[in-house]
Amino acid sequence: MLKGIYPGSFDPVTFGHLDIIRRSSALVDELIVGVLNNNAKSPLFSVEERVRMLKEVTKNMPKVRIVPFEGLLVEFARETGAGMIIRGLRAITDFEYELQMAQTNHKLEAGIETVFLTTGLEYSYLSSTTVKEVAAFGGDISQFVPKTVIGKMQEKMNKKESVDNEQPH
Ligand code: ADP
Repeated sequence: MLKGIYPGSFDPVTFGHLDIIRRSSALVDELIVGVLNNNAKSPLFSVEERVRMLKEVTKNMPKVRIVPFEGLLVEFARETGAGMIIRGLRAITDFEYELQMAQTNHKLEAGIETVFLTTGLEYSYLSSTTVKEVAAFGGDISQFVPKTVIGKMQEKMNKKESVDNEQPH
């Protein structure tokens, strides 16, 4: 049974991520979406919230399992018995970092291969960071993220606004 891991922050999950999830799950028997629990990145959403949103948007994909992880990716791959790491490539700017990561991971664990899927053209501009920026300024993010995520983003932004308003001026 071929298991693949698609790791990332997914803060929040976008249509670009979903496109990679859909396409890569066709290549494996089981796709584990690994949600990185890394507070150093100060994510907008907690790992539990990111896992919940991913579960909701992939609930009709039987091959997909959403699992939080921290620490070394190859260690997580070993624990879950996955032989393949899947990453998405948007532009040349992604390439250098991704190549370095793939080579490092291959050195750490020669039995695990990294496979790259190129982004669907309609999503090549899309990143979680951009989505957060647009939402922070009240822009429409419905072209970028699933409905569930829009609601969660609005809740976050409202909460942030009320906290900001509480700060003494
Ligand atoms: P990270 O914090 O590791 O960059 P992300 O959650 O931003 O994680 O992305 C996870 C993976 O999904 C990465 O391989 C990234 O290149 C890919 N990805 C992100 N956005 C898109 C997109 N719009 N199209 C294709 N792949 C994407």
